[in-house]
Amino acid sequence: MSSQEPYVTVVGSGPAGLLLSLILAQNKIPVTLVEKADTLDKQPRATHYAGPAVSVLRRAGVMDDIAAKGFFPEKLTFRTFDNKVLATIDHTGVSDDPDRLVCLPLNQLGQILLSHLQKHPNATILWNHEVTDIKDDNGTGVVTVTAPDGSKELRARYVVGCDGANSKVRRLLFGDWEFPGKTWDTQVVATNAYYDFYKFGYEDANFIIDPEHWYMAARITRDGMWRVSYGVPASLTKEELLEQRDEKWRNMLPGNPSPEDYRITNFSPYKVHQRLAESMRVGPFVLAADAAHLCNPFGGLGLTGGIVDVGGLADCLIGLYEGKADNSILDIYSKVRREKYSQFIDPISSANLLRMFDKDPSTVSQRDESLQMINGVKDDPTKMKELIGGINVITYDFTQHYRSK
Ligand SMILES: Cc1cc2nc3c(=O)[nH]c(=O)nc-3n(C[C@H](O)[C@H](O)[C@H](O)COP(=O)(O)OP(=O)(O)OC[C@H]3O[C@@H](n4cnc5c(N)ncnc54)[C@H](O)[C@@H]3O)c2cc1C
Repeated sequence: MSSQEPYVTVVGSGPAGLLLSLILAQNKIPVTLVEKADTLDKQPRATHYAGPAVSVLRRAGVMDDIAAKGFFPEKLTFRTFDNKVLATIDHTGVSDDPDRLVCLPLNQLGQILLSHLQKHPNATILWNHEVTDIKDDNGTGVVTVTAPDGSKELRARYVVGCDGANSKVRRLLFGDWEFPGKTWDTQVVATNAYYDFYKFGYEDANFIIDPEHWYMAARITRDGMWRVSYGVPASLTKEELLEQRDEKWRNMLPGNPSPEDYRITNFSPYKVHQRLAESMRVGPFVLAADAAHLCNPFGGLGLTGGIVDVGGLADCLIGLYEGKADNSILDIYSKVRREKYSQFIDPISSANLLRMFDKDPSTVSQRDESLQMINGVKDDPTKMKELIGGINVITYDFTQHYRSK
């Protein structure tokens, strides 16, 4: 490695790439972050991050800023279309837990991570740099980037693809169409809107279970903006969805609102997938977050899982940089993170989506295992706490594979 070379090249300035770069920079590791766009992405995507992700964000020293801009949701309810509460996850009993569920729209999370990263002289950020090719040069990761001043090669000991669902790094490693899993028949329209759901008895987050009008309504900002995410057939185009939107909202939402009753600030349909890359490590190339695995957004496990990847991968790379670990730790990273996806994130998020359009919402709480578990602990704050903490099963301590241990 020449003195000019970073130890790690991170591809993609989404939340995963920013957070990984930040933790590496905080640990004195030279890192270069390359991003094809000229700024951070502003699409309405993630908003809620569960405990295991909050733990990594806290470790990176950004939780005070997140708490100052975001908030900690208290109750998550499951409801029928006619507003009967089926089950409630109550977070008020964990209000003293530093790693409790937090809500902050992704674009604001990105800004916070970026502002922290920019304070580190050992981190270089290259905007307008698109990775177009990769090669393994005797164990050194080489990426070819197209930049405004032409094409060039960047070398580093390791290259981490945090370049999202359509990851170029993953496609170059395995092939354009090699991302095993499935795409759901339904797509999800994510909207940000001002409409007062509280006046209908809604809590901070609400999952409305219905075969036709299923949706999630969750407050996402302190000033009363809500995320309304609803399911529509995958065949409809964005234009068709926009045309039908006001009628859909009148039929779907409590109070049957007209367009003058709400203000929509973002509208974006998404195809939804359950997919897992066949490996998260090939030689000097490693994958994390959406580049490695995808799940539908119900339950907020996508980026939560991605951030947990990043925390674990940071420990692996720190161990390697400091000579406390050998290269095999990255194979362990790949094996463990893939298992956590297959055993927990994929089945839990799939069940979350299937429940949304259950055919008989009036009996779903007697049939659905998760709703039964939630109702089983509703009068016992200690057990409710344990149930909420159950998601920590997706975490893993990679420092146990350091040589000294
Ligand atoms: C509607 C919706 C709601 C969601 N809600 C939640 C939620 O509440 N909680 C949760 O945990 N998750 C949620 N998710 C999932 C979450 O948004 C994603 O998991 C997360 O954004 C992925 O982050 P990332 O950093 O891996 O990738 P991205 O955010 O996609 O970032 C990838 C970056 O890589 C860049 N890039 C791509 N290709 C290249 C290239 N060749 N060269 C250089 N740069 C490149 C891109 O420009 C981009 O900036 C939701 C998703 C959707 C769609």
